[in-house]
Amino acid sequence: APLILWLRRDLRLLDAPMLAEAAKSGRPLIPLFILDPETEALGAAPKWRLGLGIAEFAKALEALGARLILRRGPALEVLPKVLAETGADAVWWQRLYDPVAVARDTEVKSVLKAQGVAARSFAGHLLFEPWEVETGTGGFYRVFTPFWKSVRDRPVPDPQPAPKTLAAPASWPRSDDLTDWQMGAAMRRGADVVARHVQVGEAAALDRMDHFIATGIDAYAHDRDLPDVDGTSGLSENLTYGEISPRVIWAAGWRAMQSGAKGAETFLKELVWREFAYHLMHHTPHITHANWKPEWDDFAWRDDNADAEHWRRGLTGEPFVDAAMREMYVTGRMHNRARMIVASYLTKHLMTHWKVGLDWFADCLVDWDPASNAMGWQWASGSGPDSAPFFRIFNPATQVEKFDPKAGYRHRFIAELSRSPGPEALSYFDAVPESWALDPSRPYPKPLVDLAEGRKRALAAYAARNS
Ligand code: FAD
Repeated sequence: APLILWLRRDLRLLDAPMLAEAAKSGRPLIPLFILDPETEALGAAPKWRLGLGIAEFAKALEALGARLILRRGPALEVLPKVLAETGADAVWWQRLYDPVAVARDTEVKSVLKAQGVAARSFAGHLLFEPWEVETGTGGFYRVFTPFWKSVRDRPVPDPQPAPKTLAAPASWPRSDDLTDWQMGAAMRRGADVVARHVQVGEAAALDRMDHFIATGIDAYAHDRDLPDVDGTSGLSENLTYGEISPRVIWAAGWRAMQSGAKGAETFLKELVWREFAYHLMHHTPHITHANWKPEWDDFAWRDDNADAEHWRRGLTGEPFVDAAMREMYVTGRMHNRARMIVASYLTKHLMTHWKVGLDWFADCLVDWDPASNAMGWQWASGSGPDSAPFFRIFNPATQVEKFDPKAGYRHRFIAELSRSPGPEALSYFDAVPESWALDPSRPYPKPLVDLAEGRKRALAAYAARNS
């Protein structure tokens, strides 16, 4: 009988444990993507980008004689229907770890099993399953450095080769048309602009990795902090949809380290930050939606407000912050250094709840990841594990001198600061909704808050909390 492969964030052929095992079984395979309510709920940019990834992966499957069947509806309605239509008796998938997916998958597994369907889940999204890393006393890690030390020398299994063919069923079940799903509907005008910056699919991801290993990894430890330098791998976008496996990246980074690339260890360490985020999300799932440390629950953060709207629009008058917010709107990505600055600025200078920022990132980032985004925001706000202490408030003005000394980043994304603005700065005005009524010829805004005052206000609120 055929086997249903329920694809989610694993849109690749190379080092895909479920797919490798399925190909080996010799059984007819039915790859299926379900647009379920959980996936419908994605933010605008990640949902649009997922649609591009699905289209690309469908092509890759076709080249192997298979198809990607598309269906819409709750998994527990779609799966039994496809099982009945095709005579399949098993459903396999690769695990996800965020609380929403875990709740769905746990229910699916128990319902299918009760119906006699062989439901089976596989690893593949991570280097280490979150429960396989333990402290000496069998607990979980709350601090990164010991987590890193405990995994850095672990053997990581070699990547599994891509299957060469996939057996097809005697007849294919009906599939929706991807265009009918309107995955980009919420992108308003922006999709055309952001489309210039994405690298979709497995082949693009592997190219990007090879390029980085060949040209970027040596200087990574230094260049990764400079937002105007193309000094990082750019692989988060592909990792989040499973277009590349972390083991493939790990193996490449490891080889580079063996051959003496100076930045390789730092790079491997960054990759393990992603693992740490998943480790935390598994053991403390509330990290995605509530203060990791409950003692922050009564902190004086403001709910959404007019200042936060200026922040979202890249109109705070603080150039590092605005360049970063516009970078995200135009490219769907934001440099890591800039993510830390804008998150600190929102939660401290603007005293606005980190959830306001987390939600905006979840709407705008093509590399949105439930674990890394939550960990990043709670790190910046002070409410998370292993956080930046609240009293360490990034000063965007001194940060910009340090990390963008020649103003390349600011000029690249803020048209109002340049006499002859470049294409990315100008395309911001094409990307934003018309209702924002932005115009590059208007003068650049004055700072929303005086940095020293904003800092004082944040520290006073923090002192009040501690007293
Ligand atoms: P590289 O520097 O090339 O690093 C390689 C890989 O390591 C990355 O692709 C990523 O998977 C992992 N990595 C690196 N830094 C981190 C980190 N700090 N935390 C977790 N993993 C890391 N990353 C996301 O993938 N999705 C998000 O939604 C996200 N939201 C963030 C929000 C905030 C407030 C902050 C401070 C950070 C966030 N990050 C997020 C982490 C980090 O900014 C990005 O992973 C990184 O910028 C991606 O660029 P890159 O692929 O070129 O990274």
